[in-house]
Amino acid sequence: MKTKRCMVCGGDIRIYYDNEVGDEVFCDECEREYRIYSMQPVKLEALETGNDYYFEEDEY
Ligand SMILES: [Zn+2]
Repeated sequence: MKTKRCMVCGGDIRIYYDNEVGDEVFCDECEREYRIYSMQPVKLEALETGNDYYFEEDEY
């Protein structure tokens, strides 16, 4: 197992040897979501989390 450092809080993100490119992983500390885009070496891209920009406004 490897760990990568979270870009947001500096916490650990655990990368297991059976993880693959395209897997989603989470920061232990802040639960920020990342996707693995390279395994050798391990590289992560941050994902946009949640539905921050989604809201319903059907009724005025
Ligand atoms: Zn974090």
